[in-house]
Formats: sequence, structure tokens, C-alpha cells
Amino acid sequence: MVGENYASGFVRSTLGLPSNFEFSLSNNDVNVINQHLSGKASPEGAFDATVNDILKAIGSRISDECTSAGRPFVRKAFWPEAAEFAVALTHDADRLTAPLNHVLKVRKRFPTSLVIKRILSLEDPYWNIEKMANLEAEFGFTSSFYLLVHDYDLAGKRNYVRALAEKGWDIGLHGSFGTHDSTERMREDIARFEKEMGIKPTGIREHYLRFDASKTWEIMEELGFVYDTTWGFNQKPGFKAGVSFPYHPPSSNFQTLRILEVPLVLMDTSLWGYMHLGEEEGYSEVEKVLARVKTENGLFTILWHQEALQMKGGRLYPRILKRIANENCFVADAKRITEWWINRENSILNEQKDGKSFIYNVKPKDKRVVLEATFPKGHKLKTEGSGKIISISEARAKIAVNGECVIIIEGA
Ligand SMILES: [Zn+2]
Repeated sequence: MVGENYASGFVRSTLGLPSNFEFSLSNNDVNVINQHLSGKASPEGAFDATVNDILKAIGSRISDECTSAGRPFVRKAFWPEAAEFAVALTHDADRLTAPLNHVLKVRKRFPTSLVIKRILSLEDPYWNIEKMANLEAEFGFTSSFYLLVHDYDLAGKRNYVRALAEKGWDIGLHGSFGTHDSTERMREDIARFEKEMGIKPTGIREHYLRFDASKTWEIMEELGFVYDTTWGFNQKPGFKAGVSFPYHPPSSNFQTLRILEVPLVLMDTSLWGYMHLGEEEGYSEVEKVLARVKTENGLFTILWHQEALQMKGGRLYPRILKRIANENCFVADAKRITEWWINRENSILNEQKDGKSFIYNVKPKDKRVVLEATFPKGHKLKTEGSGKIISISEARAKIAVNGECVIIIEGA
């Protein structure tokens, strides 16, 4: 069946199964996965996680089969140190400043004191990258900023933004109109970005989320992007690909692309511009999305425009940071999320049967990889090398893998 290898590769790597573990997919599973991840289909309800549902069904089927065969089941946890879910903090920078007449025109969006400061040239309400980074630093977080370099240069901000990149923030390209379907236009934006930043961008989000799933990923991949984070709804939060995890989209002939999609889940402007919510209703929506992503152990990619930080609605950002800092989740910029996901994929986990025992060889690419094991009662679990059991009960265990290790699950 066309695309079968693509779909099974996606299932294996997303569930974190051993590389030589055998499982089968129905034609319907293959179809649904491929339609959604290629961008041809989206779920009916914004928060339907159609592809996640398939992953969960396959995961529990495999686990049941292992139980009835009296054998263990070992897989990689989704997130570093087996965190419950993850958050990617991202910001588009549609502008870095605005002229006084514009500020006066939209003055109702801002507190009067800020408008007065702008009149006196004491503060620029549209320059918030520094404020956002400082807020994030208080929690030990970093984030991604996407620069629309087609529309502005960094002028007096260049040194600050370059230094921020050196401090660990991810600075990516906000692709201008036309880049999503033209290699030439994309090349021009990349050249401008390199001139401003002195480095090539590794990540991208398209302005207004413009995207042509039949070619945009391939253009990005050809020009060296490691990840994209455009695939999300404009009008509302949700899982546009029906999946709450990063994934490698397919090429037109269903080869797995190298580029990683970090799907967008919530954009600030959807709350105000499309859904017309008040500030508190907007905050409740963020809470709802957070709860939903949590039930999926997924990734909450949040887009909060840098220019909005001091506006009504936009000023919720510090409250959101505080909220997620209280969760057991992995919070990072989109580049670090990408690095984690790819390192997890490349962490070797092999299974071998030896008499009544199962032996797992593990070579992690990241010290935060955790394995989750279930096994029949009476079986004994041992580790050799850099594996450390962090929790164990009669039939399940979590093992932190700080380096190469062997896990042995001895049959009774
Ligand atoms: Zn934009």
C-alpha cells in the first residue's frame, strides 16, 4: 500500500517503540495518518486528535498483546525525564516598532500611561522582545522569536537580538508573503536574515500561517530549515493535523521528510481577532487548551506576538508563563523541542529475546531519555551500565537512561 512505510515509521518513532519491534497497521490507519500528516485532511472538531486516537489504539493493542503473550513492552517516554507534556514558547515579530500616529490611532489597546510615555518617547509599546525574554528568564525558560526581515531591518536592535541568540533564545525566520510557494522568495528572505543575524535560520513560521502543504515543507527542507511551526488554525486553537506531537511530514510520494513540523496549537490573535473573546474568556480558553494537551501528553505550541505584550489581551502572557511553570512539563523554545524530538528518535532501543528473558540495548542521544516498561508479574528487571530505575512496581517501571545501558527483563 502506498505510504505504508511512511505511516508505520511515524507510529514507531512517535510511540518510541524498539527499532525491531513488529506491529501491523490497518489500511484505514495508514489512510487516516497519511491524509492528516500530508495536510490533506483536518479533524472536524478543532480539538479532535484523530491521529493521536490511532496512536493510542495501537499503543494499547500492542501492550495488550504483550501482556497476553506473557512478555514485556518497553518504549521511550515522549518528553525529557518523562515530563507529562511539553510547551513550546514562540513569538512572531510582525513589527518591532510603530510610528506615533499609529499608536495614537490604536491607543485604546494600551494603558493611558504607556501612551503618554510613547508621546514623550520614553517607551515604545511595540518593542517587547527584551521584556518577553526577561519574563521568560525569570522562570528559566527560553523561547523562539520569528523575524519578518522582509519588512524591517533590526537597526538599533541588532546587537540586542544577536546577543539574545547567544544566550540561548531561538531566533528564526518569519517568512513573508510568497515565500511559502517560491524557493526564490524564500532564498531572498534567508539572505536578509543572514545579513541581520550573521547566522542561518534553523526554524521558520510563515506570516499569516500561509502554507501550501503540497510544496512548502519541501521548499523549506531544500533551503536547510530544520523545523517549521506554521501548521495550525488561524481562526481557533486546535490540532490541525489531528496530532499533538511533532512529526516529519511526508513528501508528495510519501517519503519521510527530514524537516520536523512543530504543530502550532494556539495563536493569541485567534482569541481576539477571530473569536472576539474578552480578556478573561481568552485566558479560560488558554486553560482549556492546556488541559486538552495534557490529556494527550502532547505539545502545546503557543504563539504570542511580541508586539502584543502590552496590549489588552496580550498582557496575559506573564500570567500564562506563571501558570505553566506550575506544571510537570518540559518548557522550551521550538528549536530545543526539535532537538529533543530528533535526539529521541535517534536514541537506539533494540529488543532481543534470550530464552525466557528480554534484553534491551539502549544508546540514548540525550541524557534525559526515560524508558517506560510494563512486564508480567513475577518478571525481574535489572539494568547494566548507565540505566537507573526511577520507579518500579509489580508490573511496571521507569528507567532513566543517562548513557549506554542494557536492560534485562527476566522471565519467571
Ligand atoms: Zn505574522
